[in-house]
Amino acid sequence: MPLVRKPGRYLGTEVNRACRPWEDAMIRFCLLFPDLYEIGMSHLGLHILYSIINSTSWALADRAYCPDTDMEQRLREKNIPLWGLETGRSLKEFDVLAITLPYELCYSNILTMLDLGEIPFLSEERVKGEWPIILGGGSCSVQPEPVADFFDAVLVGDGEEKIIEIGRFIKEAKGQKLPKDEILYQLSQIQGVYVPSLYKPIYSNGLFKGIEPKRADVPQIVERAIVPDLEKAPFPSRPLLPTVNIVHDRLGLEIARGCTRGCRFCQAGITYRPVRERPLSTVLEMAEKGLDSTGWEELSLLSLSTGDYSCITTLIEALTTKYLPQKTAVSLPSLRVGTLTPRIMELIRGIRKTGFTLAPEAGSERLRKVINKGITEEDLLDTAEEVFSHGWNNIKLYFMIGLPTETLDDLAAIAELARKVLARAKRGQVTISIGTFVPKPHTPFQWEGQISEEESRECLRFLKRNLGSRAIKMKWHEPRQSFLEGVFSRGDRRLGNVLQRAWRKGARLDAWTDRLDTTLYMEAAKEEGLDIKAYLLERDLHGPLPWDHISMGVKKDFLQSERQRAWELAYTSDCRRNKCHKCGVCDFKQIRPVVQKKCLDRIKEHSSSLEEKSKTAQISTILLTYSKLGAARFLGHLDTLHTFHRAIRRARIPVAYSQGFHPMPKVSFGQPIPLGTESLAEQAAIMVTEPVDIQELADSLNQTIPEGLYIEEAAVAAGKKAIKEAAVTHYLILPWRGNNEKMAEALNIFQDSPEWMVEITRKGKTLSLNAKEMFCDVQLVNPEDIDQEIRNRWKPAREALEKSQFLLALSLKHKDTAQIKPTEFIKTLLSLSDEEMKLSRILKIGQERPLGEFL
Ligand code: SF4
Repeated sequence: MPLVRKPGRYLGTEVNRACRPWEDAMIRFCLLFPDLYEIGMSHLGLHILYSIINSTSWALADRAYCPDTDMEQRLREKNIPLWGLETGRSLKEFDVLAITLPYELCYSNILTMLDLGEIPFLSEERVKGEWPIILGGGSCSVQPEPVADFFDAVLVGDGEEKIIEIGRFIKEAKGQKLPKDEILYQLSQIQGVYVPSLYKPIYSNGLFKGIEPKRADVPQIVERAIVPDLEKAPFPSRPLLPTVNIVHDRLGLEIARGCTRGCRFCQAGITYRPVRERPLSTVLEMAEKGLDSTGWEELSLLSLSTGDYSCITTLIEALTTKYLPQKTAVSLPSLRVGTLTPRIMELIRGIRKTGFTLAPEAGSERLRKVINKGITEEDLLDTAEEVFSHGWNNIKLYFMIGLPTETLDDLAAIAELARKVLARAKRGQVTISIGTFVPKPHTPFQWEGQISEEESRECLRFLKRNLGSRAIKMKWHEPRQSFLEGVFSRGDRRLGNVLQRAWRKGARLDAWTDRLDTTLYMEAAKEEGLDIKAYLLERDLHGPLPWDHISMGVKKDFLQSERQRAWELAYTSDCRRNKCHKCGVCDFKQIRPVVQKKCLDRIKEHSSSLEEKSKTAQISTILLTYSKLGAARFLGHLDTLHTFHRAIRRARIPVAYSQGFHPMPKVSFGQPIPLGTESLAEQAAIMVTEPVDIQELADSLNQTIPEGLYIEEAAVAAGKKAIKEAAVTHYLILPWRGNNEKMAEALNIFQDSPEWMVEITRKGKTLSLNAKEMFCDVQLVNPEDIDQEIRNRWKPAREALEKSQFLLALSLKHKDTAQIKPTEFIKTLLSLSDEEMKLSRILKIGQERPLGEFL
């Protein structure tokens, strides 16, 4: 762990983790997210399945995320198979590996994870032997052909109900010791489950000609699974709280699923139909449970179009009123123009000014009609003016280039619209964010061509030249990524071999711009004799498509008629409150749009009185001394700080908050210790607004703070500055494979030398500092001579302590200039390599009092 970037990703010590006993479960899932921890932990779908499986008495769910390349390399060097974070079991030991398919550019990571799990890639290679069932699911499961060969089964559609049905069946099959082919056949009989090995693609003259079942008794068409009503769908009441900072580090609440606004490019707008809103009371309950159990300082209302939620104003009003005293921010993803009312702006501005994104998608009125965006320029400009007038000074506008029928005039209209938006601000900035249109399966534009990488770049250059103001900034999605996304979006099974070849050539973490190398895919395709650029071409309206055997419930002729209406610039209204357009999804018995008709009356609870209280209450400061041991040593300073902030909120400590748009709990910390260093003597000071019982405060924090962190002492701070910088700090060091003779010899040389220069790098500058001026009392000590209490408390290092005859004890004197870290010092003292330095255990044992008092 000390040798890899962000070791916190691999600890599995998150607050609210299930940690179910292995032996108690009859079926064990490992949920795999094929991207880095920061992305995977932000994915709501995985949290939902994790919570559902772990609430089932006979099942357990663990998790694994794709390791970064440095960790991958180390695992290979050390022959360590990839493991489930909580159980520590290698992937091979699970019954089911449920892999999320969130976007196309994560496909190479699936191979990385399988390979590190020592699992053969192809389903056909796993027919014999005891391999886990490899189950896919998630957004890309609606067109899984490019990765079909790697999966035993793919769950298409909503997973809440099906995951348990699948689990129950596999449990029984395991009990009956059914052969793999029988298991797969029976899985194919569950609605929503696609078993790729039971279907055969047909090609002729290098062209895809269709796909057909290999047996008469498997469905011709796989129908997607739909949860008819979200009210009954489970939602995690104790969500996992990440250990390290993640991309969406907040409580995500899914308030509705599906959107029927009818944007013709939007895949989710078809594949999640119909709209199903959660009742307001359920959302409020979810918010309360989620915040109470995590301490998150922000919650985000999630849905494909949050502003369209029937009770949105009442909901935001209720949430902001309730959570104002705790300074919990309510954030909304990009809102549709027309749904953003002045009242909503007022409410969210009251707590925290999160950014504002509007998505006109196209610059010209004509092109917005083609895509059925249904917003006029005037609507957009009025909304922008309203946003600026409410105090925001930066609006982000999202556009697409390469949309069907686009002309140069449409491109010029993007820049013009950005200028008009800017003109509505007295003082402000506009950022335009540009993505390339990628035609997606199951949409009215699924037959359209995609512009090439070079054409994307040409459009971007044109836009840059035409922005016309320095106050308009431009960002864009990398065209190379859109190219690859386009290939895999509408690709067929032949891409599986291309993917394998590209992966063997080194394709990794392709969704990260700095990692993607499309030449690997071009070379791989050439070797496979495939022209991958051809996947971007326009498709025959009546020809076979690689996803024809997977149904979203929406009829193909509805998609074709919507395509025709695009050319006619005809508007198709939202069916949730207007007439049904007969797309085919609803049966109006079980499946139908679910919209909330009753919103609660305005809720105005005690916010003003509480706010008043927090202003007038007497503020005092509590000084905490805490230890940071074991896995917690891999939490960086900022992650430790977030961990404390959230633990304080969970423990309901009446902490004071700073003023301004980003109110923060008033908690200060002592000098950060380096990542990897353990400590028995860290300090934090909490300002509280009410009298508190000190012991109760420490106890309640200890009940909620993650493993490895522990409040050792709490006291009311005397004086204004609660944390004073120590003049001297004491450390114990267990060098990696320390050689006692070598240590004694090195120490003698150090002690006899008049100076001991150590080169360190700070802010890019190399400095040479004299360690003799900073380190004193450097001595070898026998582990037995160390204070018994310290030895007991340094439990995580017990094994290493037992093995060693001597440790190094030393004191570091603090100076106002740059300081040598204890790790840097022992590296030169004992001539350690970088790796040996990082693997050494270092414990801060105390400060100020003489070192002898700790030994
Ligand atoms: S069937 Fe009708 S109501 Fe249902 S999603 Fe389709 S258009 Fe909307």
